[in-house]
Amino acid sequence: MKKRHLQQSSLFLCALLLICICIGAFSSLKPAAPPAAVPAGAETGGQPTVYLTFDDGPSKVTGDILDYLAEEEVPATFFVIGIDSDRGKTLLRRMVQEGHAVGLHTYSHVYSEIYASPDAFFADQKKLRDYLKGVIGYSPAIFRFPGGSNNYTAEGWVLDGICAEAQKEGLVWFDWNAVAEDSGSTAAPPGEMAENIIQSGGDKERIIILMHDNSIRTTAVDCLRIIIPYYKEKGYQFKTLTPTTEPIQFNKVE
Ligand SMILES: [Zn+2]
Repeated sequence: MKKRHLQQSSLFLCALLLICICIGAFSSLKPAAPPAAVPAGAETGGQPTVYLTFDDGPSKVTGDILDYLAEEEVPATFFVIGIDSDRGKTLLRRMVQEGHAVGLHTYSHVYSEIYASPDAFFADQKKLRDYLKGVIGYSPAIFRFPGGSNNYTAEGWVLDGICAEAQKEGLVWFDWNAVAEDSGSTAAPPGEMAENIIQSGGDKERIIILMHDNSIRTTAVDCLRIIIPYYKEKGYQFKTLTPTTEPIQFNKVE
């Protein structure tokens, strides 16, 4: 009687085990749950991120900037103008080859022309897009307004018109939330530039730094020699801007 009871118990346990295995097998056959919606800024992986951006290049200092970025293995974004020369083309190709992003600034960078009307702005931008397509093989979909999207040189209707058209065309403009204040008529001392960046950027999770890549700005690399190690030490990662990066925009179109 006791033996029979034991046999029954064993059978029951075996059956239970079999059911468990079956449930396990079937549940593993079920399709994977769809991935959760990607929250804004997910490309940073939750890590504080610095986006180094350089306006107005390529220039005589671009090579030095690229050399140092390569040494530190840090990518950056260059909002370029129309420098139609062999040296300019070589530098643009080098930016792309070394993993940096190229964005549009404007071809001429002449405020009175580009900000005459939204049409004038896009005519200039098209010239730059066509030029870059020929040099680097693609036409960037990110851009930066000379002076920022809320600059005081252009009239409001022009800036708003540019923003509205850009949004329609899927072009993304990026302003900034940290500045080197390196736009003076002479090169700024690198320590001051670094301090300006660190003060204006604060402890933000995402810092878009505005610097200039311009032949007068001969101290840009020395400034980078301060801020790149500084942000690395603080646990920041460095990324390029892309059309899907959550932008910082002074002027928004609702
Ligand atoms: Zn500029």
